[in-house]
Amino acid sequence: MVRVGMANSWGSFLQDEQQLEELARQAVDRALAEGVLLRTTQEPSSSDVVTYAPFTLFPSLVPSALLEQAYAVQMDFNLLVDAVSQNAAFLEQTLSSTIKRDTFTARLFDIYKQVLKEGIAQTVFLGLNRSDYMFQRNADGSPALKQIEINTISASFGGLASRTPAVHRALVLLIAQEKERNVFDQRAVENELLARNIRVIRRRFEDVSEKGSLDQDRKLFLDGQEIAVVYFRDGYMPSQYNQQNWEARLLLERSRSVKCPDIATQLAGTKKVQQELSRVGVLEVLLPDQPEAVARLRATFAGLYSLDLGEEGDQAIAEALAAPGRFVLKPQREGGGNNLYGEEMVQALERLKDSEERASYILMEKIEPEPFGNCLLRPGCPVRVVQCISELGIFGVYVRQGKTLVMNKHVGHLLRTKATEHADGGVVAGVAVLDNPYPV
Ligand code: ADP
Ligand code: MG
Repeated sequence: MVRVGMANSWGSFLQDEQQLEELARQAVDRALAEGVLLRTTQEPSSSDVVTYAPFTLFPSLVPSALLEQAYAVQMDFNLLVDAVSQNAAFLEQTLSSTIKRDTFTARLFDIYKQVLKEGIAQTVFLGLNRSDYMFQRNADGSPALKQIEINTISASFGGLASRTPAVHRALVLLIAQEKERNVFDQRAVENELLARNIRVIRRRFEDVSEKGSLDQDRKLFLDGQEIAVVYFRDGYMPSQYNQQNWEARLLLERSRSVKCPDIATQLAGTKKVQQELSRVGVLEVLLPDQPEAVARLRATFAGLYSLDLGEEGDQAIAEALAAPGRFVLKPQREGGGNNLYGEEMVQALERLKDSEERASYILMEKIEPEPFGNCLLRPGCPVRVVQCISELGIFGVYVRQGKTLVMNKHVGHLLRTKATEHADGGVVAGVAVLDNPYPV
């Protein structure tokens, strides 16, 4: 028998196989009818071959106190990311060891330096972050919210990014990949904008490099139209860049268009920054005079350790090698499937131990959520109850004009659930599935 969550609301369903099959059939029909869709792996670029996006049969139980805490701290995280993105000295110092070894971060950093040097053409900054958490029990048995990471670029499954007066009737340029399975998530954003009479054009980096140009005021033009806002759903992984795309990214950053996110905000979302923020005293420097926000932020931090060369890094490596099950090794990458666990982590640490390359990774305490039973529905897979864990994401949006924060709010959540046998991986990677919190 599989144990079912903290409370047993779905217990009677989970025991009746026939009833499960019937419920699953109904749920799949509903998902298809509601447009909960993905393109198929076989036909990622075809417009007429789709299947349902994987989702749970039942909403998973999430303590309401943690849901509220995650919402309450989101504006603090927005403030923090924004503060990091404006603090050139902090970014430079924090990433200095990383960029020596990690060419991707170094490349992003080069653009950052270049636009800083030239002077930033735009005074408006548009952030769309998603802070992700898991839940684990404190020693006293009470549930605690622990941050997995913050996503500052291409935070997917949102859809409300540009509901702001500041971008009203702007022409929005959505930078997209050619073969995008998650296109319907992006279309939902486009539709929300269209519903507010904001026009959206969807283009690739290649289109920008072929047809984009800046005028003498650094206004961005594409196909003869001025672009007010650039929204990135591409450009968060090294494989998404070739020389042409790097040039297009630089052009977009140099432009006067509002970027969502701008390059500094993308860098503020690196795992290295996340790790440095957890260091004693750093939050206090970035968010001076905001002790309450600092306390709320810190309460969600898990253990994070620098692997920079030196005593502190040596100590972290020794601890991870002594107890590999308690740690996760993370490179500066987004998109899932890049972290190393267990034996793989041990091998990597042994290999990296004496090289400067280790600074391009961080070490993180492994969060241990309590597993529960649910059914993960996927096209072509049998319906069965498996042990699962969930990851809660809260979306946050803010607009800053110069030094003034014009808007800062939370705009919804995402719950993703996966079987406990998978250490890593998201919905599009086929590991996690879409879920809904059932507050208890
Ligand atoms: P990415 O940028 O690739 O999404 P994440 O830091 O979110 O990187 O890690 C990917 C996945 O790995 C997470 O969704 C989560 O399932 C798992 N994971 C990451 N960090 C931890 C951790 N500290 N403890 C437990 N699981 C983790
Ligand atoms: Mg993630």
